Amino acid sequence: MGKSLKILLANPRGFCAGVGRAISIVEKALEKYGAPVYVRHEIVHNSYVLDKLRRKGAIFVESLDEVPEDVPVIFSAHGVAKSVPKKASAKNMTFIDATCPLVSKVHKEVEKYFKNNQHIILIGHRGHPEVIGTMGQLPKGEITLIETVEDAKNLTIKAPDKLAYATQTTLSIDDAKDIVAILKKRFPSIKSPPKEDICYATTNRQNAVKMIAPKCDYVVIVGSNNSSNANRLVEVAKKYGCLQAYLAADEQKINWDIIKDEVSVLGISAGASTPEFLIDKIIQKAKKIFDSLEVEEISITKENMSFKLPKIK
Ligand code: SF4
Repeated sequence: MGKSLKILLANPRGFCAGVGRAISIVEKALEKYGAPVYVRHEIVHNSYVLDKLRRKGAIFVESLDEVPEDVPVIFSAHGVAKSVPKKASAKNMTFIDATCPLVSKVHKEVEKYFKNNQHIILIGHRGHPEVIGTMGQLPKGEITLIETVEDAKNLTIKAPDKLAYATQTTLSIDDAKDIVAILKKRFPSIKSPPKEDICYATTNRQNAVKMIAPKCDYVVIVGSNNSSNANRLVEVAKKYGCLQAYLAADEQKINWDIIKDEVSVLGISAGASTPEFLIDKIIQKAKKIFDSLEVEEISITKENMSFKLPKIK
């Protein structure tokens, strides 16, 4: 008898509304201004998306100093510190902000806390551009970054009754919950965000992986190495019952030898910046390798979020 494989596709997976909006902003800017258009930082963390935009004329840089002054520049979906648009304005540059509205929401929140004289604890990953952008909304020292349960336990605060917390939008829901529980225990009057900062797309993708992971022998999360969102999905799959869970940029990075020999049920999901055609390519590849292939989609919710594009003048 030939070898067979069942694929469980987690749904929702892949592109979220903020990523779709950011990519559209770059495409519209290219149409409007012509190439090249500069983008400060990778517009979203996926190498396929970047290569496609590069072919159309986008140039990705890390600093405004690398942008010629007469060429428009776009700020990535992760958001930027206040100093960035300020500097662009001072240099008279044309800039378009592709910050996801759900990241902007966190920016507004921290500003509100600051105005209320509250010190902010930000739960996030040090060095991630979103965290740099959020911390850069306020003067230095007004936000304390913590990353782990240990950090929450060891935190020392001067005015513990004037505290609020915010989080990165792409954290692990479970990890964030553990950290928040400690903060609330240690600082009972700490203010929580009015609505979760971890965004709907992160939440749905993690919950969908939680559904499929216990049923799978192996899980592939499609995404780039620097995608926070995709890396969290790998952790979730492991925590919820599938220790063989790996990140893969595309079908070529998947260890098909192991899958051929050891796997009957393969789970697949993708981070919020991963295009769907990469999933299609994995299924096509599996069709070639296995004599019989069954694909089942496990859907936990339907997403209908969309964000308006900013005016591109
Ligand atoms: S993952 Fe969430 S916060 Fe990030 S771009 Fe998508 S919708 Fe926005």
